[in-house]
Amino acid sequence: MSIISSPYFDNHENFMVFTDVSVGLQAIIAIHNTFLGPAIGGTRFLHYQDEQEAIDDVLRLSKSMTYKAALANLPVGGGKAVILAGPQKNKSPALLKRYAIQLNTLQGNFITGEDVGIGPEEIKIMGQVSSFVKGLPEDGSGDPSSITAYGVFQGMQEAQKALLGTGNLLGKTVAIQGLGKVGLALARLLHNESVNVVACDIDDVRADMAKQELGIEIVDPKAIYDVSADIFAPCGLGNILNAKTIPRLRGRIVAGAANNQLESAEMGRLLQEQRILFAPDYVINAGGLIDVYYSGPCYNREQVLKKVDEIPQTLAQIFQKSHLFEEPTNRVADQMAQVRIAENVNTLGGDRERFNHFFSDNSS
Ligand code: NAD
Repeated sequence: MSIISSPYFDNHENFMVFTDVSVGLQAIIAIHNTFLGPAIGGTRFLHYQDEQEAIDDVLRLSKSMTYKAALANLPVGGGKAVILAGPQKNKSPALLKRYAIQLNTLQGNFITGEDVGIGPEEIKIMGQVSSFVKGLPEDGSGDPSSITAYGVFQGMQEAQKALLGTGNLLGKTVAIQGLGKVGLALARLLHNESVNVVACDIDDVRADMAKQELGIEIVDPKAIYDVSADIFAPCGLGNILNAKTIPRLRGRIVAGAANNQLESAEMGRLLQEQRILFAPDYVINAGGLIDVYYSGPCYNREQVLKKVDEIPQTLAQIFQKSHLFEEPTNRVADQMAQVRIAENVNTLGGDRERFNHFFSDNSS
């Protein structure tokens, strides 16, 4: 089992394991970087094949939160948490509360919210014992997923604009992988705009619910890459774009909410070679982070939406630079994020020496 030698370690500032056998809690919190402020990142509740899979997942997700916050221009750093679920995925209130109490020991250095397997119900329970849990109904939107979906929708339009000169998606087809909180919200937005949606979910109940509500076409999850769609929108888990799946894509755009969609950074190059425009995941899905950042007693939905409206502008810059320098969009996004952090470290009078050592590795 490797942590510091994991290929995803990338100079993490902190890595913590929290356990409580009496409630079946096994959780990891990884804090990648706090140059710009306290780390923010969701908590994921997932069954992993083994501990290494969980360690790699949390490290990779945590790093992308640092880059996400930087490109969303928010004064926060990157972190992430995973609760290791058993095969039955039992998440008792006692387990959730125990985890949230552990959050308190970090004294606000890590602030968390929803992710895969953690929704409004769980957030409510955790919020009873910790003030470092965001996304509570009384804090604002209550569930950042619809804001995330809104940002993804905007990003899709921008990607199409970069390719075809028009962002109008009317009559286009979008293939959505995963109909969870974000995927379903995205399907609703697209459906309302008369965009054809073809979707799948490994959970038949979720797929049926979406079919009943929206009348969209549902396909077998294994067949989603082969759908004749203009846009592929990954909204399930990460690591799904690889040397086997990329050649199967029929459209020219990948734009979805899932974190860490590329199996490795090199897959960004493969997408570029296949003339597929990739909207970097941590840029297009920043709506949830923005929503959580602004949540609290003074929550203002207009302010949040205004900030989310900056996502397409950032994507437009990435697409332009990628085109100009013939660099894959994921590389361009990483470089832009590092520059933004550097600029802010200067402005905030941060530790320049530490910064210089931090980004020795460019790969995402
Ligand atoms: P969720 O758990 O509500 O939904 C995920 C859905 O994807 C589930 O219904 C699951 O069954 C399905 N799924 C998983 N793997 C699949 C596969 N291979 N094929 C088809 N379906 C599959 O999670 P969510 O909150 O909707 O988040 C979805 C993704 O977006 C995650 O990667 C998450 O990290 C990312 N994300 C979410 C938010 C947010 O606001 N919730 C913000 C940013 C990023």
